[in-house]
Amino acid sequence: MLFSARSALSQVRPFSYPDRRAALHVEGVSLEALARRHGTPLYVYSADHIAQRFDLFARAFAPVSHLICFAVKANSALAILQLLEKRGAGFDIVSGGELERVLAVNKKAAERVVFSGVGKTAPEMDLALRSGILLFHVESEGELELLAERASKLRKRAAVSLRVNPDVFAETHPYISTGLREHKFGIEMARARKVYRAVARHKYLEARGVSVHIGSQIRMAEPFGAAAERVAALIGQLRKDGHGIRFLDAGGGLGIEYQAGLEDASFDPAERVQQYAAALLHAVATVPEITLLLEPGRFLVAQAGALVTRVLYRKQNGAKHFVIVDAAMNDLIRPALYQAHHEVVPVLPRRGARSMVADIVGPVCETGDFFARDRAMAAVREGELLAILDAGAYGMSLSSNYNSRVRPAEVLVSGKRARLIRRRETINDLLAPEKF
Ligand SMILES: *Cc1c(COP(=O)(O)O)cnc(C)c1O
Repeated sequence: MLFSARSALSQVRPFSYPDRRAALHVEGVSLEALARRHGTPLYVYSADHIAQRFDLFARAFAPVSHLICFAVKANSALAILQLLEKRGAGFDIVSGGELERVLAVNKKAAERVVFSGVGKTAPEMDLALRSGILLFHVESEGELELLAERASKLRKRAAVSLRVNPDVFAETHPYISTGLREHKFGIEMARARKVYRAVARHKYLEARGVSVHIGSQIRMAEPFGAAAERVAALIGQLRKDGHGIRFLDAGGGLGIEYQAGLEDASFDPAERVQQYAAALLHAVATVPEITLLLEPGRFLVAQAGALVTRVLYRKQNGAKHFVIVDAAMNDLIRPALYQAHHEVVPVLPRRGARSMVADIVGPVCETGDFFARDRAMAAVREGELLAILDAGAYGMSLSSNYNSRVRPAEVLVSGKRARLIRRRETINDLLAPEKF
């Protein structure tokens, strides 16, 4: 019993071939059947996998008072927010729109919402104040002034935490590294005490927390520990200064292994969360009576999802082979934006298929519209289905209508049940806001 629970929690992905002749399945559902029913490109997610990743976090942090605030920007599908909300998750939001999504799922969940982001507007603050969110992560003195003004106007007290910039380097892609002084995020540690004094002077502001977020797709525990230690030390000082700090928000950013092949078990998610938790728990051990807030996004949802796409054409330019698929950079922009690697596997592996080296590209008119370059893969034919793995985070949420392409449908699977959680957009959805 214990063994089976452990192995489920250590599962890298919910995708597998039940036997040598079967199509790729997500949990108990064939991706071929889903593609036939809903068309392609199609996002599919495993509900059980997301729940398992959430439980991994919950277990690892059980020794301390904590709240796991899912970073909504990683995947903002209402059905996924609902699934997490039912498990007791809080939410890290970065816009009024994301708050509206959380409220749509459950108005009461507002009390588990933390609001991040460097550019909050007055209407967004008003909505958050009226909804009664847990904490505003304030990122500048200008923002603090505006928040004070909105809070007095509405006569609502705002619980404030400053997002400090710990000046910690974390090895990741430069676009998703945020914890250095040269980045736009946070307030310098050295200024923080002064800013907290300003918070304390204001009748409608309450200094309740300190937060950091050092970046995304960070696979080592050490930088998280180092940042949390700096924050913990600052909390000690702030408490001496008389502030009632109750929350240490360690941010999100725990990374996964995009390079791991489908059968590769060298990456153990349970072990990674354990190491991450150990680093953070060590840091917070020095601060009594603190509630640890965590903001995982990618780690909870990335590996739960795949983008299923159909091969439209194969072509050859000189020595170069291209596989042209019906998904494109507007559906999944990570390769184009971050040179991100995604494993791509056949939905129905053909026995005896030769191997080839090819670029897997979409139909969009940009050279950057690719999913893989010079990828060694089993030869595929026109009409075959491919699954682009680890697409559950920053996939659909970063999608666009570029080239007037409609966004894909999304399906959420639990066991043998598949549920359409977002229909494919239609051209009418795209044209509706326009006038001429
Ligand atoms: C993006 C973001 C997160 C989530 O990052 P992941 O890498 O997806 O875990 C958490 N907190 C803040 C403030 C963010 O901007």
